[in-house]
Order: sequence, then structure tokens, then C-alpha cells
Amino acid sequence: MRSRVSSLEGWFRDHARDLPWRRHRTPWRSLVSELMLQQTQVSRIALRFEDFMDRFPTPRVMVDAGEDEVLAAWEGLGYYRRARLLHAAARCIVETHGGEVPSTVGALESLPGVGKYTAGAVASIVFEVRAPIVDGNVVRVTSRVLGLDRRADDPTLLKEAWTFSEGLVQASASPSLCNEGLMELGATVCTPRRPTCAVCPLAETCAAARLETPDAIPRPKVRPVRQVVHMHLALIERSGRVLLEQRPAGGLWGGLWQPLGLESSESMTLEAFRQALPIELLRCEHVATRRRQLTHRTVFIEVHRAMTRRRSGRWFDRDEASRLGMARPIRDILDRYVWSSEAD
Ligand code: SF4
Repeated sequence: MRSRVSSLEGWFRDHARDLPWRRHRTPWRSLVSELMLQQTQVSRIALRFEDFMDRFPTPRVMVDAGEDEVLAAWEGLGYYRRARLLHAAARCIVETHGGEVPSTVGALESLPGVGKYTAGAVASIVFEVRAPIVDGNVVRVTSRVLGLDRRADDPTLLKEAWTFSEGLVQASASPSLCNEGLMELGATVCTPRRPTCAVCPLAETCAAARLETPDAIPRPKVRPVRQVVHMHLALIERSGRVLLEQRPAGGLWGGLWQPLGLESSESMTLEAFRQALPIELLRCEHVATRRRQLTHRTVFIEVHRAMTRRRSGRWFDRDEASRLGMARPIRDILDRYVWSSEAD
């Protein structure tokens, strides 16, 4: 194990990608980057990270800014629940830990949105704690190195991966180099398809490297069937302001803002939509259908222009709306059909 881990550490020292959160490390930057990186590509986060940190340089600044501003700054990164959890974690850090990100795995795991992987990553990378980490990359590397021909989401493989990671980090000279090296190896060398075993620091002790097709393991997860969602929105304007509402906290785009609307599992006629809305519309016409492919859902957004006599509700001009948390497709619709001078 010792020679395996020292090869990994040496390789990472020489081959680590230059990424914004690695240039200047603090516990807060590390926590933010780990939460951002969950389920989002490194390249997308790399482009946005410094702007986000300029806006929220400390947990206290984030708490003072409020959840809506965090959601607005998160726009386009998807999985908005992470932004709400990050804001909640910042509040917990301020209220319980004096504004400092805690250094132990246990205390990190008690923060909202921080699971065993993220706690281990922050504790090891920033505080050199000998904590194991397991994500999809580590599962893949483990199954190949140990030659475990199982499905990627097989619980016994996950268990093996935690044991493998634990063994590496306990034998390491530097938990940060070991763990980051393991993640980096999975991201850049031991990739899902066509791993580059010829340059891999673990090749000598890897079972899969001796196979003709090392990428045959682990076997793919069984993918859940994508859910279809029909989202019906009414664009209602008055004097340069648009009527918006906040979505429920859970589920798709939870807690984000949108024009008045509703969802259904099947398509809906214009009349049915009018009847189902909780306000009376004077006029309502369908103007566009937008399709959005998300990881677990296909969303059809039916865009309507409408008029109402109602004056109550939350009306926002463009500037005010720009500070609200809003899913990117919804913002695009407002830009195209409400704010754009080209709108008909
Ligand atoms: S030798 Fe190949 S299969 Fe094994 S860990 Fe390295 S890249 Fe992955």
C-alpha cells in the first residue's frame, strides 16, 4: 500500500491541474469548491469560482447577503439545492463555529449539505486529517485496481472503495496529496472510457490494467427512467414589472423564482391552464414551448402571455429580478419575452 500511495502522491505533485481553488487554499474556499463540484463539471466551476468567492469571501458575508443572493450568484450551475444548503452551512459556521470552517470530519459532517465525502475532502485537503474519501471517481479506480467486476452502484463495491481509500490515506505521507491525487487520477487518467493506463501511477498494481478493456469495469449503473414534466408559465406584465412567485422549497428548481405557473405530468390545453391558475386572466395566449433536458427530467416549458386585473402579488422590474435566484431557462424566457426590446 505504501508504494502505491507514494506513486500516487508523486504523480499528483507533478500532474495536478491548475485550478482556481488550488491556487489559494482556505477552509472556506475549499468547502465552497467541494459543494460546487458535486455533480457539475470542473470546467464550468473553474470559470465561475473566483467571481463567486469575490461576492462571498467569508461565511459571514454569505449569511448577511441572504439566500436569494446566493441563489442568484449560483445561476447556471444547476442543482440549486446545493446553493441553499451552502447558505445554511454558512449560517451554521457563523452561529456555531465563530465564523471558522471546522477542521474535524464530525463537525464538518454536521454542516447542512456536507456528507462523508465532502467532510473527508475538506478535512484532508485543508487540515491534513487522515480521512478517506469516496466519490464516483474513487469507486471506479477501486474497482479497476482491485479487479472488482461489479455495478458502479453496488453497495459492496462502495464499501470496498471506502476501505481502499482508508488504506491509502492511512499509509500516506500527506493526506491532501493522497486524496486529491486519487480524485485527480479518476478525473483525468482512470476515466470512465479509455483510461490511459500507460501513464497511470497505479498501473503496476492494477488488476484492470492487465485486461484488454479496463473500462469494462465497473459495470454501468442502472439508469432511472427520465421523468417528463410540463411547466406552464404566464408572463404577466404591468408598467415594466412582471408578476413572479417563488417555487416551493423542495423538488425541481426549489425555492427559485419564476412567472406565475403550475406543473403537470401531461400536456394541458390553454383553457385548462387558465382554469387551473389561482388568478383570473383577462387574456392568455401561448407564445412558445421550450424543452430542457435535465439529468433526471425532461422539462417542457409552455410560455404564455397573459393579462390580469389583479394588483396584489410580487411584481419586479428587470433590475430587481436580476437579484433573485432563478433557474437559467426561466431567466432566458424573461429576457426573451419580457425584457427584450425584440419581444413582440
Ligand atoms: S492502470 Fe488503468 S485501469 Fe488501473 S487505475 Fe490506472 S488508469 Fe485505471
